[in-house]
Amino acid sequence: MKVAMIVSEMEPFAKTGGLADVAGALPRALGKLGIEVHALLPRYSCVKEKGARISAGPGVTVHFIEHEGYFNRRALYGESNGDYPDNLERFSFFCRQALERLKSDGIRPDLVHAHDWQAALSVVYLSTQLKADPFFAKARSVFTIHNLAYQGLFPKDQYPRLGLGQELFNINGLEFYDQVNLLKGGLVFAGAITTVSPAYAQEIQTEEQGERLEGVLRMRSKDLVGILNGIDQEIWNPAGDSHLPHRYDHRDLRGKGKNKAALQKEVGLPVDPKAFLIGMVSRLAAQKGLDLVVQALPRLAKLGAQLVVLGSGDRAIEESLTRASSQFPTIRLRVAFDSALAHRIYAGADAFLMPSRYEPCGLGQMIAMRYGTPAIVRSTGGLADTVAEDPSGGNGFCFQSIDAGAMVEAVERALRAWRRPAQWGKLRERGMRSDFSWDRSAKEYLGLYERLVG
Ligand code: ADP
Repeated sequence: MKVAMIVSEMEPFAKTGGLADVAGALPRALGKLGIEVHALLPRYSCVKEKGARISAGPGVTVHFIEHEGYFNRRALYGESNGDYPDNLERFSFFCRQALERLKSDGIRPDLVHAHDWQAALSVVYLSTQLKADPFFAKARSVFTIHNLAYQGLFPKDQYPRLGLGQELFNINGLEFYDQVNLLKGGLVFAGAITTVSPAYAQEIQTEEQGERLEGVLRMRSKDLVGILNGIDQEIWNPAGDSHLPHRYDHRDLRGKGKNKAALQKEVGLPVDPKAFLIGMVSRLAAQKGLDLVVQALPRLAKLGAQLVVLGSGDRAIEESLTRASSQFPTIRLRVAFDSALAHRIYAGADAFLMPSRYEPCGLGQMIAMRYGTPAIVRSTGGLADTVAEDPSGGNGFCFQSIDAGAMVEAVERALRAWRRPAQWGKLRERGMRSDFSWDRSAKEYLGLYERLVG
């Protein structure tokens, strides 16, 4: 089977977030299953590879779509003063050229898999302008939502630049409250829709979390499925992690205690094995529930817990965290995007906190569990699908309401369990033995592709 993966960012070429992790790992995992994958990506200025295409492992070819004016810029989607105003033109060009490239290179896809609003137009063009093109006659399509909050919205006067007929600019097409909504095009025209966890697939069909697209999603609910993301088990491996001062595995966790002491020292916390150390690694965005953490700081400090937060993003969230944490010597905030420190927090913390308001999948909780660091999460989206609290068989701690008090109670339960080493050891081991690999997810995608292609 030949799959064309159309995506606007991909590890290791260009990254702003989790989408790049998925686009980097999924093609390789599919390649291992015998699929021929062609990934198509804009040639941004950060792409250093030469040539129109390169091989990226067995079965995987990456094709770069070039346009000096559109893609040779400092960032992918926008800079500090906002999104690039011509994003509609940039990404409609990308989608059209990606399909053109397949044709000019004679790559006849069985399936086109497009990701997020930036690539959504490729499935629209496939079902409209290219519908009668024999080259794409057998191509089926899948569209994946990585985060429904980002929809690619543009003023309606830009619609003619898409080259689509006016008959598609209505409630059944790309029109959305008098604007152009590119993501909606993907939802309407794709053969199947996926999102990155089963729980999020349900949540986005509700008014609370549907971002005003719940009606469209409900209409397509029989074609909508949640497939949990995986984590790269080679990058995230406590037994071979070069960022850690001490390596360890589930058979021998002595190194983990040493990493805790090293982390306490590195971030300026009292080096104390008896202090319950909670870690956070997060974008500073409203989605991530850091306001609950700010509210809870006095109570966390009173519990005697230590907290280290690594985050970057929203300036207002950063300021409120900075202000609140400066009063507590047991709370440490690092404002940075620092992958090496992230590894040391996953390894050195006793528990990992993710109080997200919503979470399409979430990688942090899976990474933490792999490092023997049980997660304390708000049960939403992918967090609900991966973390379960159950004294006999669970792998972490959960709370339901978006409420600092509920979060602190979950922390207290975690702290009580941590003080019982036998119980904690079992909990930790269950997390470390869980299969969060891409192999599992890739098999689910392959099953979906096979059902569509027939
Ligand atoms: P999202 O994609 O919404 O940001 P995920 O949990 O899916 O959240 O993925 C976040 C990824 O980015 C994880 O690999 C996490 O370790 C990493 N990350 C987030 N913030 C930082 C940071 N400040 N420094 C280093 N890595 C970070």
